[in-house]
Amino acid sequence: MLFLIFIISIILNLSIYILFRKFLRDKLLKEETNLLDLDRIQRELTAKLDKMNKDIEILKYDLNSHIQLYEVTKDISKYLNEEDIFNIFKDKLNKFIVYRECLFIKKQTLDLEISEDDFIFKLNINDKILGYLVLKGCKSSIDKEKFSILAEQFLLTLKRAKLYQQVQELSIIDSLTGLFNRRYFLERLEEEIERTKKFSLYLSFLMLDIDNFKYYNDNFGHLVGDAILKNTSSVIKENTRHIDLVARYGGEEFAILLPETTKTGAYFAAERIRKNLEKQTIRAYDEELNITVSIGVASLPEDATTSLELIERSDKALYKAKRFGKNRVCIYKA
Ligand code: GH3
Ligand code: MG
Ligand code: MG
Repeated sequence: MLFLIFIISIILNLSIYILFRKFLRDKLLKEETNLLDLDRIQRELTAKLDKMNKDIEILKYDLNSHIQLYEVTKDISKYLNEEDIFNIFKDKLNKFIVYRECLFIKKQTLDLEISEDDFIFKLNINDKILGYLVLKGCKSSIDKEKFSILAEQFLLTLKRAKLYQQVQELSIIDSLTGLFNRRYFLERLEEEIERTKKFSLYLSFLMLDIDNFKYYNDNFGHLVGDAILKNTSSVIKENTRHIDLVARYGGEEFAILLPETTKTGAYFAAERIRKNLEKQTIRAYDEELNITVSIGVASLPEDATTSLELIERSDKALYKAKRFGKNRVCIYKA
């Protein structure tokens, strides 16, 4: 009996041991699987994080490129002159990329020595080569890529400037004073001379020049100089008739054509303009200024037969007015 009990107890213990071992083995296996899963999940997460970091880098690069593009576009688009546009462009390039030199070649063919490292950007407008941008001493391919994008903006601004120039050429108005420009004036002068001759009329011409204008420019600045030009234009317009033709002939020179006006009539008109200009006080940028002008008068038919002669003779009279002390009107005398 005892033996039987002993045997049963051994069997029982053995079964408990086997069961316990199985239980432990299963648990270990499960833990191992969990660990493997964790490892896989960790690897997946690391890969995702890497991808996100790369995406962030790309986004940062894109954002930076856009900011640079915006900065360059914003600044160069203020200018309408090729040289100004290029100088500002170069200033901006210095901030964004590393290079030795950047050249703006305004020729159809590139006739300078180009090395392998040089990066060339062709400036093409409507299938016409306008010139080239040559970037020297730039090592990084990323910088070269950036340069291409920025050069595109340079080209766009250049196109705008060209368009502006074309519009200016078509225009008949001087943008500063609002008067007719020289080109339009010369066209109309020819017509008026023809009409004067055809109907045997009189025609007078006044060449007006601001006295000592350089002094005002040098001492008060160009903006004050420009304000003087605008004020002078207004006073001339106020003291001439609708049929008279007033133009900005040069920097501070004005041409005034008085149809059907004799030399004596022209002298009085010129004196009226001169006196009114002398009387006015110009207020510009906290300055109060008084200016004077000199005027030369020449007329058809007595002084000239062609436009060239008329201009040349009124110019001579103007020169005389300057020589005799300025702030006066002089009539041409042969
Ligand atoms: P004068 O009495 O003999 O006529 O002497 P001036 O100083 O008036 O003549 P000068 O020809 O020496 O100077 C003319 C100046 O006009 C030189 C130029 O810088 C200036 N000028 C020409 N165009 C413009 C313009 O659009 N704006 C301004 N602010 N200045 C101009
Ligand atoms: Mg002058
Ligand atoms: Mg002058």
